[in-house]
Amino acid sequence: MILELTKEQESFKSSVEQFARDVVALRAPAIDKSGEFPSDVIHAAAARGLLGVTIPTAWGGAGRDYVSYALALEAIAHASATVAVSLSVTNSLVAELIAYAGRESQRGRWLRRLATGDALGAFALSEPESGTDAANQQTRAVKTADGYRVTGRKVWVANAEEASVAVVFAATRPGLRGQGVTAFLVPMNTPGITRTARADSLGVRGLGCMDLDFDIRVEDDQVLGSVDRGFPLAMWALDGGRIAIAAQALGIGEAALDEAIAYAKRREQFGRPIAEYQAIQWMLADMATELAAARVLTLRAAAAKDTQEKCTVEAAMAKLAASEAAHRAADRAMQILASAGYRRGSVVERLFRDVRATEIYQGTSEAQRMIIAARILNNP
Ligand SMILES: Cc1cc2nc3c(=O)[nH]c(=O)nc-3n(C[C@H](O)[C@H](O)[C@H](O)COP(=O)(O)OP(=O)(O)OC[C@H]3O[C@@H](n4cnc5c(N)ncnc54)[C@H](O)[C@@H]3O)c2cc1C
Repeated sequence: MILELTKEQESFKSSVEQFARDVVALRAPAIDKSGEFPSDVIHAAAARGLLGVTIPTAWGGAGRDYVSYALALEAIAHASATVAVSLSVTNSLVAELIAYAGRESQRGRWLRRLATGDALGAFALSEPESGTDAANQQTRAVKTADGYRVTGRKVWVANAEEASVAVVFAATRPGLRGQGVTAFLVPMNTPGITRTARADSLGVRGLGCMDLDFDIRVEDDQVLGSVDRGFPLAMWALDGGRIAIAAQALGIGEAALDEAIAYAKRREQFGRPIAEYQAIQWMLADMATELAAARVLTLRAAAAKDTQEKCTVEAAMAKLAASEAAHRAADRAMQILASAGYRRGSVVERLFRDVRATEIYQGTSEAQRMIIAARILNNP
């Protein structure tokens, strides 16, 4: 496998890095402090083609490959983990899914709006009793004359504060688990949706997470894909989403490494910069090595997404490796900065909180290990 970037990928990466430095990084502390959804930054990102990144140009997207998308999200996450994950939800979990499984009328109605930031997307899969066991959907969709009545509760729905459309999963054949779930495209202004703000979260603050209660009517043409075939669609979307979260984790980890290197060079103890002590050098070396290894897995998964029918295991390995490497990087950065990092409001303190969610959302690390183990045990 060749991991060399093309000229186009390099130039896109540089332009996103510049946007991340000039615009996103300046807003990151305030987003974290206020916990408010960063509409201004998301719209500025949309104007630079960072929504609908991989959506074909014919449908209003930027028409780029997954490797470019992963590079872009890493650059954005280096500046703000919140902005990166918000962009990834609209891109991977909503727009790509509509492009993949939507009928022509659904693509026509939503894709251009999503790609330009005119509409943001949300993905409503998790429920109070259905987290890792996502096939155990308690939200019900019961057939009516011209559509469905959907009732139930979804939790932790990112972007929900501002989203115009949500992909909502509901059991159409309760008891059949993953074989009886249907995906619906639901405009967020549909009567019968009650939004409740989530309590303050530890990190990736400003993600607009809400709990949603549904008692809504949807029409037959709001079914995304086929009836009862929604669960495989959720899993398909999560393959791309996990590559995006791997990229997000890399950006957070690299930011932690940069902070640690800069501090180690300027902080003196016992008359020398602490960067001269082997204990500090080894921590920096381990951070750099683990992040580099995780980047190889992430780009491998992105390349697989571009070229293969399925990339489930590659995506799970990338997310597992990158989120855990980034967690260790943030932890070591905290150790290197010591009290300077532990102070509320320091960059490393924010990274330390932000990184934790990458091991939880879009499938915990245990869920990734389950996917990988199932594959290697079935296909030795
Ligand atoms: C910031 C944030 C944003 C989110 N955004 C969204 C969103 O936009 N849309 C959405 O649908 N969801 C979203 N989620 C929900 C997220 O996907 C779930 O939190 C995640 O899937 C885990 O589910 P849970 O929290 O219910 O944990 P649980 O499933 O209850 O798991 C608890 C613990 O048990 C472990 N566990 C569970 N089953 C097994 C098993 N069989 N073997 C071993 N260990 C197991 C888990 O790994 C975990 O450690 C978000 C969550 C967060 C924190």
